Amino acid sequence: MNHEHGARYVRVIVDRAIHRELDYSVPENLAGRVGVGSRVRVPFRDKSALATVVTILEHSDAKGIRPIEAIIGEAPALSEHLLELARWIGTYYCCPIETVMRSMLPQVIRRAEVSWKKQLFVQPRCNIHQGEIEKLRRRAPRQAELLEAISKLEKPIRAAELLRQTSLDNQTLRALVKRGLAELREEAVVRDPHGDEQFIATSNLVLNEEQTHALNEVEQALDASENARPILLHGVTGSGKTEIYLQAIRGTLDHGRTAIVLVPEISLTPQTVERFKGRFAEAQDDVAVLHSHLSEGERHDEWHKIHSGRARIVIGARSAVFAPLKNLGLIVVDEEHETTYKQEEAPRYHARDLAVVRAKIEKCVVVLGSATPSLESYHNAAIGKYRLVTLTQRVDQKQMPLIRVVDLRQERRKEKKAAILSEKLSQAIADRLEKREQTILFLNRRGFSTSLLCSNCGEARNCPNCSVALTFHRQPAIAGRLSCHLCGHTAAVPKKCPACGQDALIYHGFGTEKVESTVAQFFPKAVVRRMDADSMTRKEAYRETLRNFRTGKIDILVGTQMIAKGLHFPNVTLVGIINADLALHLPDFRAGERTFQLLTQVAGRAGRGETPGQVFVQTYTPFSPSIQFARHHDFTGYFQQELEFRERCDFPPFKHAILITVRSAHEGRAKLSAETLKRRLSEALPEEFILGDATPAPLEKLQGQFRFHILIRGAAIMRLSRLARETLDKLPFPEDVTVTVDVDPYQLL
Ligand SMILES: [Zn+2]
Ligand SMILES: [Zn+2]
Repeated sequence: MNHEHGARYVRVIVDRAIHRELDYSVPENLAGRVGVGSRVRVPFRDKSALATVVTILEHSDAKGIRPIEAIIGEAPALSEHLLELARWIGTYYCCPIETVMRSMLPQVIRRAEVSWKKQLFVQPRCNIHQGEIEKLRRRAPRQAELLEAISKLEKPIRAAELLRQTSLDNQTLRALVKRGLAELREEAVVRDPHGDEQFIATSNLVLNEEQTHALNEVEQALDASENARPILLHGVTGSGKTEIYLQAIRGTLDHGRTAIVLVPEISLTPQTVERFKGRFAEAQDDVAVLHSHLSEGERHDEWHKIHSGRARIVIGARSAVFAPLKNLGLIVVDEEHETTYKQEEAPRYHARDLAVVRAKIEKCVVVLGSATPSLESYHNAAIGKYRLVTLTQRVDQKQMPLIRVVDLRQERRKEKKAAILSEKLSQAIADRLEKREQTILFLNRRGFSTSLLCSNCGEARNCPNCSVALTFHRQPAIAGRLSCHLCGHTAAVPKKCPACGQDALIYHGFGTEKVESTVAQFFPKAVVRRMDADSMTRKEAYRETLRNFRTGKIDILVGTQMIAKGLHFPNVTLVGIINADLALHLPDFRAGERTFQLLTQVAGRAGRGETPGQVFVQTYTPFSPSIQFARHHDFTGYFQQELEFRERCDFPPFKHAILITVRSAHEGRAKLSAETLKRRLSEALPEEFILGDATPAPLEKLQGQFRFHILIRGAAIMRLSRLARETLDKLPFPEDVTVTVDVDPYQLL
């Protein structure tokens, strides 16, 4: 910032999709206060607009330059480091910078409409004489009572709180103020999302040899963070990675620096928050929490707590990678393999990759932790870009769970229909119930029956808007209706097949609801609960179920991926994976990797206490590599064979990919636009890039839109991004055709 003579001109990015930066002059009275990263209000066309200052200029050649109207907020909202990151995102992810800014600054900060919550505080008055109170008591006894309470105050108190304590009313207080006997002051109060919780202070746990070594690696990197390589911390489930993060953060604070911890949204459980808040309990303000369930007011307050430097640790989901901390020393990305780090709307960034880029810009340390690292990160470690640190043991010498594979093909021969619980699994559950130990049953599919088929003509009930079958739900919320999990469309169950008119409809396939009811039928004495997006619609339901499970009030917990990650229940000794094949057969090159990760993570929930755990994996493809390697806890073996496959097929991490989706409610126009785009791309792209054909997406229709895909692969991603953007900008698409570009895509359906 140019404080001496103040800025004359600024170049800004307006919060509108105009794809270019504009110059404005700075009026005398604002000159000293505007800097790079400041939010300002500017005249734009015939209105006003909000904008972010990106450059301070001495001169500007722009014609008809106009002055900025106002500055929003005291200090610049974005640091130069974050602006640099924003530009990188725009180039890499093929996305206009205005869109990047929208992600970087929460709406409540950008618009500056929400402010601090103000409350009235009664000020203490120690100079009140007893006589004064007595005099008042004769005329206005209630005012005297309140005055007496005020005379005993040691510090300001919220007016509402004082009135509650004294059982007096607002009128009495106002009367005292009018007499000049009491003083009210408006003060800002912080809306702390965890303000009403008590966190019990914890201290460092003793580290084992492997953990000590891992912590040393991080600390050495902190000492030489100028050129530290990213650290990939590969530790088996239950190996105590969080304890290493906690102690590394302590070290970072001791260096006078700050830290960000990214966790997948789904693992941002009360349990996780408690661990961090508890460890740094001596200064509650130190830890700020950012996630999607904050109210606008809470988000405003948490953001300012971070921006003003009061909070030094930020724990949050994906977008916390943009937390405006100064003097950043450490970024931890826990469960770095999680696909929820990828944002599925523009800017389509991957928070783990941004953490690495931000660490490079801010010269700080980045630690990527996982029990099942992504192929991308593992490959980066293999070629020396990242430093690999491994934890092979669970803490306290706990055993890795024993994994047994159950071949459902044999079960089917016995039962003649799809088994939900194999004989082996139900025996194991009965055994746990007897021993009063707990069981988790995992199935990554919601609902009761996953389709309604006609046994006469073979027609399934499909969603009218999407190319998927409707799922049948029995629970009250959807009350015996069919529902689409992609667009939310619901329909009544028809009595007869609408296609052929026969009374031949049968339910097919099963989801978590049916698992829950089957298990409850099988074990009538057991307490069975379900945890998925349908049963957890209330905010407290999640917390409540977890608490009841932890205190042993639930014997069997059935759930989707909501229960797969990060949870720690010492009394769980059995995990059943109802169908391991669900993810395996998706048309996605990461299908195998995801299955391996999911099996390992879910299995990791077993045997975290004193008793060793056991895992049953039910599958129709018992010999698939993902299942076999997961069964033997053989990470290296899995990585090697999967990397060979990826290299052979020119897939990530060996090549980058860009997925272009062309969609429209009009099938023909979507198809034609996609084919035209493909032709232009083939003219624009040099031979080193592998350009796929324009093909219908695996999910051909979604929310009423027909979708076509073009997949491009290549090593030089920045160049590819630029060429793709240039080609797109030159092509006029019909108005009802939407084109999206996804760099490093994770959603290929
Ligand atoms: Zn039919
Ligand atoms: Zn639908």
